[in-house]
Amino acid sequence: MMRATDAPTPTAETDASEADIDVSRVGRLFEMTSDLLATISLDGRFTLLNPAWEQVLGWTMEELQASSMGELVHPDDIEQTQALMLAGNHRSAHLENFTNRYRHKDGSWRWLLWSARCDGEEWYAAAKDVTDRMWLERQALHDPLTKLPNRLLLIDRAHQAIARLHRSSGLVALLFIDLDRFKAVNDSLGHAVGDHLLISVSERLAEMMRDSDTVARLGGDEFVILAEDLEGDSEALALAERVLHALEEPFPVGSAEVSMLASVGVSVSRNHEADPEDMLREADVAMYRAKRAGGHGLELFDESLRQEVSARMEVEDRLRHALPRHELLLAYQPMLPLSGGRPVGCEALVRWHPHDTGGKAQIGELLPAAFLARAQESELIVQIGDWVLHTACAQAATWQRDGIEIQISMNVSARELTELDLAERVREELAYCRLPGRALCLEVSEEAILRDPERARSALKDVKRLGVTIALDNFGAGESSLSLPRDLPLDMLKLDRALIGGFERDKHRRAMVVAMIALAHEASLKPVAVGIETNRQLALARELGCAIGQGFLLHRPVSPERVRLRDTPGAVTSAPWRPLVRLRGYNHRRH
Ligand code: C2E
Ligand code: MG
Repeated sequence: MMRATDAPTPTAETDASEADIDVSRVGRLFEMTSDLLATISLDGRFTLLNPAWEQVLGWTMEELQASSMGELVHPDDIEQTQALMLAGNHRSAHLENFTNRYRHKDGSWRWLLWSARCDGEEWYAAAKDVTDRMWLERQALHDPLTKLPNRLLLIDRAHQAIARLHRSSGLVALLFIDLDRFKAVNDSLGHAVGDHLLISVSERLAEMMRDSDTVARLGGDEFVILAEDLEGDSEALALAERVLHALEEPFPVGSAEVSMLASVGVSVSRNHEADPEDMLREADVAMYRAKRAGGHGLELFDESLRQEVSARMEVEDRLRHALPRHELLLAYQPMLPLSGGRPVGCEALVRWHPHDTGGKAQIGELLPAAFLARAQESELIVQIGDWVLHTACAQAATWQRDGIEIQISMNVSARELTELDLAERVREELAYCRLPGRALCLEVSEEAILRDPERARSALKDVKRLGVTIALDNFGAGESSLSLPRDLPLDMLKLDRALIGGFERDKHRRAMVVAMIALAHEASLKPVAVGIETNRQLALARELGCAIGQGFLLHRPVSPERVRLRDTPGAVTSAPWRPLVRLRGYNHRRH
């Protein structure tokens, strides 16, 4: 073996310029540097190495020189490495920033970053061990649970795939996959099982795709497949169909099995200037349409969806200007004791009065259903939430100055609950308006809590420490988890108005209401029946043990000037809430 120190020392015969270079010092540099230096034959064998290699790869220099490239280079990198080495046939060949993996003596792999030149017979190479950097980059670009590429890497690969479209006649497709009812599985079987299922899903998706495709996980139960070289929409849809079938195959969970149904949205493009973020958004929108249609299906993003999206973006755009233009207002709807008396609280409900209707006829007042979902998809909900908190607290302070002590309730969206320091914002606002914590109640829905139960619980505990009341809103609207009220720092349980709306005729709903009211009492929470529109509903709510109600029959949401909060008998008794029926248990009939 030839080491640098084995190189001949300069003699009288050696070239003067060689002597000038001072070969012995160069030799010491070669010996001492921590960079990896080597000469390599065109078939990839080391012909000369410096000792740094022993440090990095664990093999002796003799062992390294005796090994072929196939024994040292990672199987996935060998083909490309061989091709590059052979390209050294051309005298001027050189390579920069090339990375590949070499086997360490302990069996692990080290990433090397190469810079090399070839004189037509041999490569003169310098390499660096960049394993740590590659590991960090990998961490930054991969999902820690499933090890799949994350959103960042997906978008980068989609950029490259789209750029390749200009020399291909095929198309690029993004498939947005959302597992149906995964949250329910996660809640009922536990997070460890949920994680295991997500890993199994990721493996199954990766198995069914070609190596050139990318399977990524965006988070939660959302996966995206990037596929290229597809012939047309129908091939992309067939792929989505195969994904649905693959997930239907049961996954083993302990001694049982679980099938994963999914909703898939597909976006395709032939345009080499398409924006991957736009494509991802389109696939997401299509997935939502599949979900709205009942789940376990697929949708292609098409012209009708494009129009829907642009209409939505227009609303979002106008909503962005609503706050600075003072177009948002709060309406107030009291909560009243069902046996009569003054309101026990008052819910602030946001309303939008757009001045600029985008050239359309005057719209008048918009209810939250028309715009809140848009706001919740963006950071706008945070600004709106801030404004609601400020306006509601200012209103409570005004009423207090007028001698009306009333607790104001406000609705808090999922984003505010889990992404922001809610307690700090509430504390500041209460202090600014000089209000005690009990002047405010925060209403949070189960849906918002279930998005991130741990963070929601901790945010609510912090808010509760300020003396603020917490209500669980829309209880019974979705798949209610009856254990939820026990785990959270709650004071009030607001039964969803869909339950109250149907509970006179529907035995099943009535049974649910009975169970929920019992649950509230058992957990020392005040049940509130929301959506009371008829005397019969009012009477039944009372009969079932609900002491507080909110509904159009009792009081509609109105502007702060028109809301009746004083202790006037008219507040409730003027509403015809007295039962028109005599109650005999729940199955009574009208006489
Ligand atoms: P919610 O929190 O369940 O509020 C009660 C909703 O029921 C209000 O609808 C109210 O007008 C309506 N309601 C009350 N009694 C009756 C009744 O007897 N019959 C009928 N049909 N409806 C009744 P609204 O104002 O349209 O608000 C809808 C939802 O929008 C609210 O449901 C709440 O989840 C959300 N929301 C409203 N304001 C805000 C806000 O400032 N911030 C956030 N994050 N969400 C808000
Ligand atoms: Mg509410």
